[in-house]
Amino acid sequence: SSVLEIKDLHVSVETDQGEKKILKGVDLTIRQGETHAIMGPNGSGKSTLAYAIAGHPRYEVTSGSVLLDGEEVLDMEVDERAQAGLFLAMQYPVEIPGVTNANFLRTAKTAIDGEAPAIRTWMKDVKEAMQHLRMDESFASRNVNEGFSGGEKKRNEILQLELLKPKFAVLDETDSGLDVDALKIVSEGVNRAKEQTGLGVLLITHYTRILRYIKPDFVHVFVNGRVAEEGGPELAERLEEEGYDRFLTGASA
Ligand code: ADP
Ligand code: MG
Ligand code: MG
Repeated sequence: SSVLEIKDLHVSVETDQGEKKILKGVDLTIRQGETHAIMGPNGSGKSTLAYAIAGHPRYEVTSGSVLLDGEEVLDMEVDERAQAGLFLAMQYPVEIPGVTNANFLRTAKTAIDGEAPAIRTWMKDVKEAMQHLRMDESFASRNVNEGFSGGEKKRNEILQLELLKPKFAVLDETDSGLDVDALKIVSEGVNRAKEQTGLGVLLITHYTRILRYIKPDFVHVFVNGRVAEEGGPELAERLEEEGYDRFLTGASA
């Protein structure tokens, strides 16, 4: 089984005031089949971790590494990261004007597998996955995320997850903007991927709500660009009761 290792990761962005250090030495190891929740207050660097793994050009890795089965992810182009089995769902999914969802999915699947999926099984798979996620068929022919509501974008990301079958998924605030029904549907999609393909999940969230539906094996609390505390599911329960206050006293905000 596969393993994703984040080792002493330091990440900065260039701002008008100069270089801003955001991640200050992050260590995490995720094995296939495991779900790790990254929790933390706003501004603690959670999305920056997702962007760095995704290879966003604004986020400069100044030291450390991200290894997928020993291979340096940070040396890979963005499309190579997907081919290697990483799936990255961002807090703010991008719209792709002029590209239909169906074409986007087929192109992505082809790039990842190295060959085009057989048309008949593919159409069936897409249809089934959309039904699982209670997405209307019209979403196949609409441009990727264009005019989608926040909740529809999140569902669309899980549609990609179900069809592309990655080894590891980084899900950044997949719960934000979802009502309870949509949250359940989206969580079921993630849980199906866990059961069917042994997906490893890095679930980034500010709130504990989604963890009622996607059960974490490990919880890591992010504060000020570092993992401040780690534990099992009980840590999420404690955060639900206490919030992040005890981590913020004395920390530079
Ligand atoms: P979180 O996802 O935990 O809310 P972020 O990773 O989005 O945190 O942000 C961490 C810190 O880095 C914040 O102070 C944020 O303002 C800053 N930051 C993130 N991206 C940029 C950027 N592109 N330019 C300047 N500052 C940034
Ligand atoms: Mg934020
Ligand atoms: Mg964020």
